[in-house]
Amino acid sequence: PASSAKFFVGGNWKCNGTHASVEKLVADLNAGEVPSDIDIVVAPPFIYIDWVRANIKSAYEVAAQNCWTKPDGAFTGEISAEMIKDAMVPWVITGHSERRLLLGESNRTVGLKTGHALEVGLSVIACIGETLEQRNSGHLYDTIDIQLQALFENVQDWGRVVLAYEPVWAIGTGVVASPAQAQEVHAYVRKVLTDRLGKSRAESIRIIYGGSVTDANCGELATQEDIDGFLVGGASLKAPSFINICNARG
Ligand code: PGA
Repeated sequence: PASSAKFFVGGNWKCNGTHASVEKLVADLNAGEVPSDIDIVVAPPFIYIDWVRANIKSAYEVAAQNCWTKPDGAFTGEISAEMIKDAMVPWVITGHSERRLLLGESNRTVGLKTGHALEVGLSVIACIGETLEQRNSGHLYDTIDIQLQALFENVQDWGRVVLAYEPVWAIGTGVVASPAQAQEVHAYVRKVLTDRLGKSRAESIRIIYGGSVTDANCGELATQEDIDGFLVGGASLKAPSFINICNARG
């Protein structure tokens, strides 16, 4: 692999679960064998994070799925990065396409959230990726450029950032990017990082793939030069599948 960093697997539970299903999932994840030399991070809905953090085994870290752009204040319904830090949750996901598309989060907002979360001391899984329309109309690379630019404007310390490339057309659709398609964009992202930050810094940043990853397709994706891990949605809700994905590198 091009990256010098540890393999990374994230499980994005999205807006799914009940107390009962979360307890079952955590029990099943705790019973599984996962490699000790990779980073594994699960992102439960806010209301279950504290319980998951307290009950999941130490092979797994926890993430919030979102945070606010600013410190505590009059922002009804929001959760600040400070609160996430205070709750001993080390990670947060920013810029997921569902938040960009369903909640109208702009590149600027995603950049501000990412920058603020890093300032507070969180590690960030920052998501980028094009829609099918952008890809088909020849705007794949400028979409990626614009999304990355918003991050460059706000990120001082890339040491705590994992970049997730998630083509929107692959998320929750069962249409996974081919290993070659994913590798092509990952290599491009690596090049942009290299141009901006230098080779050794760029190689230390994990670029993970997300979008219909399953235990059936993760093996070949994981062999690609610039794929340093996965962000898994649907398959992260099934412990056996998620555990297999954590073992994708064998
Ligand atoms: P999916 O979601 O694995 O269900 O496609 C991935 C994601 O949205 O992070």
